[in-house]
Amino acid sequence: SSGYATSISVTGLPISILNAGGSPALKEKYLPGLLSGAHIGAFALTEPASGSDAGSLRTTAVKKGDKYILNGVKQFITNGMHADVFAVMARTGAAGSRGVSAFIVDKAMGVKGGKYEKKMGMKVSPTQEIFFENVEIPAENLIGNEGEGFSVAKNALDGGRISIAAIANGLSQAAINKAVSYAKEREQFGKSILEFQGVSFPLADAVTQLEAARLLTRQAAWAKDQGQNFKVLASMAKLQSTESCMQITMDAVQTLGGYGYIEEYTVERYMREAKMLQIVEGTSQIQRLVIAKGL
Ligand SMILES: Cc1cc2nc3c(=O)[nH]c(=O)nc-3n(C[C@H](O)[C@H](O)[C@H](O)COP(=O)(O)OP(=O)(O)OC[C@H]3O[C@@H](n4cnc5c(N)ncnc54)[C@H](O)[C@@H]3O)c2cc1C
Repeated sequence: SSGYATSISVTGLPISILNAGGSPALKEKYLPGLLSGAHIGAFALTEPASGSDAGSLRTTAVKKGDKYILNGVKQFITNGMHADVFAVMARTGAAGSRGVSAFIVDKAMGVKGGKYEKKMGMKVSPTQEIFFENVEIPAENLIGNEGEGFSVAKNALDGGRISIAAIANGLSQAAINKAVSYAKEREQFGKSILEFQGVSFPLADAVTQLEAARLLTRQAAWAKDQGQNFKVLASMAKLQSTESCMQITMDAVQTLGGYGYIEEYTVERYMREAKMLQIVEGTSQIQRLVIAKGL
């Protein structure tokens, strides 16, 4: 399911943060478990008062000898306390994004879990509030230098957006498969409903939009693999894939008529899952901001 894929893809965020900026010792300690799937990862950026404006986060990390003391609350953390390793963005300096640093935090260091969110969809993927109350973390768990945390997080999210785009494309394909096979079989007015343009044209648009989304996602992934700057392409891929996924899953529900609204036929779940993909790892508006900045 796309919920399961989301949980797996979030583990990719601490992996990419460690890979890009972790010391050899940190990599050796945390990467094997995360990569093998023995350990689950989480990415803790969002807070109750800062979502899109992540640079205004309030969680603090205060240096004390060879440790940092972490205090604060993180909101909507995918995998929550199921995670073993957290990439945490916290303030070590002045207000604004340049005062943010990134840390790798082991659950065993004293991370606490708050309430689990009851969500519209993606229920297989746990979403939880997490707390840091005087959590002591070794200074060597800082990624890069103090003040680099915001760009560390943004770089990881650029890659994550390609994963979210791929998840959306898989979800779109599942919705199209269900809608097309249903439309071929269902007969009204003496013929299959796929013979009505009112049914077939939205599905023609759906396969076209999905193909465009796939090409953009592959292009972003290719640019990343080539070591090129892929930031704008990743935002384009996420925007195109998740927006088309929302439309495609809504059209799938409409194609099935009343049955589309019934759980057993699963397309209503796809529609609820698509909504989440337009919000996480930067909303559609934030993707447009990134794309517009690149103009
Ligand atoms: C199920 C789920 C899982 C999540 N998992 C994680 C996770 O693992 N780790 C994590 O750190 N976060 C996670 N998040 C948080 C998610 O990334 C944020 O919800 C998202 O970034 C939006 O932040 P917000 O909810 O505070 O909304 P806000 O930032 O308050 O935005 C509200 C609305 O205003 C719009 N808006 C805001 N600023 C602008 C602007 N400048 N221009 C135009 N429109 C704007 C937004 O697009 C949105 O429509 C998760 C969220 C959900 C729902």
